[in-house]
Amino acid sequence: MALRFYNTLTRQLDTFEPLEEGRVRLYTCGPTVYHYAHIGNFRSYMFEDLLRRYLRFKGFRVTQVMNLTDVDDKTIRGARERGVSLNEYTQQYKDTFFEDLKTLNIEPAEHYPAATDHVPEMIALIERLMEKGVAYRSDDGSVYFSIAKFPAYGRLAHLDLSGLRAGARVAQDEYEKDNVADFALWKAWDENDGEVAWDSPWGRGRPGWHIECSAMSMKYLGESFDIHTGGVDNMFPHHEDEIAQSEAATGKPFVKYWLHCAHLIVDGRKMSKSLGNFFTLRDVIGRGFSGREVRYVLMATHYRQWLNFTFDTLRAARAALDRLDEFRARLEKTSAGAAAGPAPAWADEALDRFAAAMDEDLNISGALGALFDMIHAGNKALDGGTVDAPTAGGALATLRALDRVLGLLQETGETADAAARELAALRLKAREAKNWPEADRLRKELLALGWLVKDTPQGPELKKA
Ligand SMILES: [Zn+2]
Repeated sequence: MALRFYNTLTRQLDTFEPLEEGRVRLYTCGPTVYHYAHIGNFRSYMFEDLLRRYLRFKGFRVTQVMNLTDVDDKTIRGARERGVSLNEYTQQYKDTFFEDLKTLNIEPAEHYPAATDHVPEMIALIERLMEKGVAYRSDDGSVYFSIAKFPAYGRLAHLDLSGLRAGARVAQDEYEKDNVADFALWKAWDENDGEVAWDSPWGRGRPGWHIECSAMSMKYLGESFDIHTGGVDNMFPHHEDEIAQSEAATGKPFVKYWLHCAHLIVDGRKMSKSLGNFFTLRDVIGRGFSGREVRYVLMATHYRQWLNFTFDTLRAARAALDRLDEFRARLEKTSAGAAAGPAPAWADEALDRFAAAMDEDLNISGALGALFDMIHAGNKALDGGTVDAPTAGGALATLRALDRVLGLLQETGETADAAARELAALRLKAREAKNWPEADRLRKELLALGWLVKDTPQGPELKKA
């Protein structure tokens, strides 16, 4: 079966053919480490994990690069507000990001380059753009990319450039489509940057956000590579600018397939701090849910559809995972350690259906449907007593093969245990009912189990006492 992806560049389902046989080079825009990543961010990383795992399932060797944006407008502002160095400020968020990936059982990428470790590569790339005459230095010592010199500009985001004002410039890292303009590759130092500055041929300053991804992706994956992913909000200006910088410098196609993940909304509304529906992964875990329950919810909606995140969907995920666990336990008990025999027809059929669904732009609904149909058919066969030990072993092997993609069969990471999560959920209910004595009693009970509960504006969080 051919593997197909919806390619933002062509606006159609394209059959996937890697540039190098058997190998996939994949770049993923990573986090800006200026706060804890929220569940909307993790939706993108989960989609990329599913993509990566499925490519490996198909037999490809995957080299994935995910950058860490540790210098930009937001990180500099955060460090200044807290009065600490940029490094000190970003390090804590890098650390928690990796902890969160573990909690969600997201497979590690091969490389996590940090922007601050790659400034020389960015300067070298800007120098190439200057030599080609597609970049220019402004009076203040910043360097801009001249989009008029790159006729393909706007191809990814389908921009209408007819009303473009020649020479208009934008210095911010993020801007809207109605503000299309020459964008900053290098920003001359100003007092808002404090101590954050590097020397360059154009004077002291710092790189723009977009040049970071071009420099680091090409360093680790080559000047042309297979797949570039990100959230749909990265499409413009970030990815458009990455294409312009990279292709103008090399004269080669930058990326063959662009895959974009849609937004996450909460209870039908955009997630925002002012609406009180803004959740980091830690907030959700602190409300008594496990990493794999969150994983299931983030994964189970197709990546190009809006995902409506609710606590009810998390409870439904718990029920689905219980069914999966029970089935696995039944197969383990029946196989009783016997050598695995051939898988039964209901398992083979599930495997075929699973792969056929995933081949079609990662159709996860079809894939999960195949899994739960297998559980249904398998339970029926087990009830009927027609499954002997080797057959159960064969079915178990199929289940584990599917789980190499889904990553749902085990709890991982530093999540609170089930009892603590249950108590935290009860305590939250008591608090919502303003039953303070009961809430306090549950707090003490949690403490006796070794868990501190801390109430935050986003809800309670559990921490090891
Ligand atoms: Zn990026």
